[in-house]
Amino acid sequence: MSKDERFDVVIIGGGPNGMTTAAYLAKSGLSVCVLEERTECGGACETQEPIPGVRIYPHAMLMYASPAPGFEQLELHKYGFRMEWDPADPLTEVTALACTDGWRLISDSDKLGWAKIGGMTGAPPFTRDLLRATFWCPPHPPEVEVSDENTPYMQVYKQHAPDMWTHELREMTMFDLMDEYLETEHFKTAMAFSAWASGAAGHWEGVAVPAALCVHLLTLPNTGHRSIPRGGLHGYFHAILRAAVHNGAVLRTSCPVDEILIKDGRAVGVRLKETAAPGGRTIRASKCVIAACDVHQAFLKMVGPRHLDPGFIQKVKDISLKNQTLYVSVFHTKEQLRMKERFRNLEQDKVVGPNRQPGLGVYPCDSRKLYYENVADIDGRKGQPTVSPEHAMWFQTPPQSFDPTDCQSNYPRGYISNAFEMAVASPDYHVEGEDAPDKYKDEMDAFMRASYSQMVDGLDDANVIHHWSASGRDVEFRNTGLIGGTWAGSRHDEDQLWTKRPIPELARYRSPIEGLYHAHQTSGHPGALCLMAIPYNLMHILIEDGIAEPGPWWYASPWYIPQQGKISARRP
Ligand SMILES: Cc1cc2nc3c(=O)[nH]c(=O)nc-3n(C[C@H](O)[C@H](O)[C@H](O)COP(=O)(O)OP(=O)(O)OC[C@H]3O[C@@H](n4cnc5c(N)ncnc54)[C@H](O)[C@@H]3O)c2cc1C
Repeated sequence: MSKDERFDVVIIGGGPNGMTTAAYLAKSGLSVCVLEERTECGGACETQEPIPGVRIYPHAMLMYASPAPGFEQLELHKYGFRMEWDPADPLTEVTALACTDGWRLISDSDKLGWAKIGGMTGAPPFTRDLLRATFWCPPHPPEVEVSDENTPYMQVYKQHAPDMWTHELREMTMFDLMDEYLETEHFKTAMAFSAWASGAAGHWEGVAVPAALCVHLLTLPNTGHRSIPRGGLHGYFHAILRAAVHNGAVLRTSCPVDEILIKDGRAVGVRLKETAAPGGRTIRASKCVIAACDVHQAFLKMVGPRHLDPGFIQKVKDISLKNQTLYVSVFHTKEQLRMKERFRNLEQDKVVGPNRQPGLGVYPCDSRKLYYENVADIDGRKGQPTVSPEHAMWFQTPPQSFDPTDCQSNYPRGYISNAFEMAVASPDYHVEGEDAPDKYKDEMDAFMRASYSQMVDGLDDANVIHHWSASGRDVEFRNTGLIGGTWAGSRHDEDQLWTKRPIPELARYRSPIEGLYHAHQTSGHPGALCLMAIPYNLMHILIEDGIAEPGPWWYASPWYIPQQGKISARRP
């Protein structure tokens, strides 16, 4: 690398948001450099091989991005993205949910109500429009007052399901919405838990629709038979990386950024840390710098108080990154895990995936009382679980897709389980300090096994060869860019959603520094998951600012409102 390199755009962070932004901008003809602190790109979409022939995913596993325009705009199929699209049919596929007394059936009203909320019973169905309107559309400009009439998902309901459209849709909780359309308590509890684990909780006011649609994003592909990307989410990330490289983006790993360089109030480049592989070099940006790393680091450290208004600094400090994180466990066992006796009836007693694992889903779904017990521990007390292992709620991810010739499909020595995940307090906000997850690691592993053993046999010491577990602290240790070890960053409640996420000044990915944008799950709408949403939404803003001029492949969100005095991202 020469001493002073120059690109049109410099992107800090080679995680999914940084890399997808790079792919979009490189495809628009700009010269782009991605600087990644670690030795490998991918951020929290990574694969690990703890023993040869066994691949596990310590964090991201579930595909929430299926409606993203990026699949076709970036032509990911040309770059190796493969996924058998086989979405779940909520009317036929999920028939029962696991409760403490065994499987409880889901009623037809549950299924129809859930399908209706998700636009599946429309004629024609409008699920994709609804999901795109909610997540793949930039927040409206500040001069536009957000109303029932211009909220994108409200527009979609009004057009396709006017009987559902009420002003209260924007005020209610997901439980309120479900109480109106669904029947059984266990179905509502499972959906609220899935929403909570996906970012927008079932009991938060004002986010009923985003919360319910998060679960649609989750369940449609992931409870379908095999619609998991080949190679998991790291495989999906690889396709994006290849798209970026093919279009000319330059990627540099082992390049932690220390400082964003600002001249006359404008971001003009970055300086690497002295520990970077090429040393503390400067890399210049002619058009803009995009911080695709966490919001605190970007503004409090890389920009710093010299260039920012104290009021803005305080607001960034106040952004709560207190969301939960997920404790991920994968088991290597001598004998196959087996459903407990009381779960061996019904068709749910099926085995899934190359390793013929029992498919479990969410447990225990008895009632919202259990949901609130779990929420109180993590969002309230923020310490070690006080809930019993019998009542701790968790979910099991579906199996990953491995072809029959893959060693994972034929692993000769024992069985590799699907991942089990449980929400826990994120380390930075643990009441006993950020090292508490380390201190309690053995205890937590035992707690996890006791909880999962409510549904399966085989997690006893005699049968378990390895218990690979990743606490929030382990996740942070592995990936120092993952602030708080949390997957969701800030909360997805009404205060931090859409035009207020994470604070109004940053809602449209611009910052108070000219030429500095922010594109990370901790700050941008819609946050974690919904991969490719932040880069797609950001593109609208970069077009408005005259930075990106994409070719005919680009199309804007139909619900996007251009900012006054700017270039419209919508084609004439
Ligand atoms: C336990 C867990 C489970 C999850 N499950 C799912 C799931 O099932 N499905 C899903 O879609 N998502 C899941 N996620 C969330 C998903 O992984 C994140 O939403 C996604 O990785 C966010 O992408 P990002 O690019 O915004 O940030 P990150 O992935 O955090 O990437 C940021 C990158 O910036 C780099 N960086 C940081 N600081 C610097 C610096 N100073 N200089 C240079 N580089 C820097 C980091 O090393 C990192 O590579 C999960 C996350 C966790 C932790």
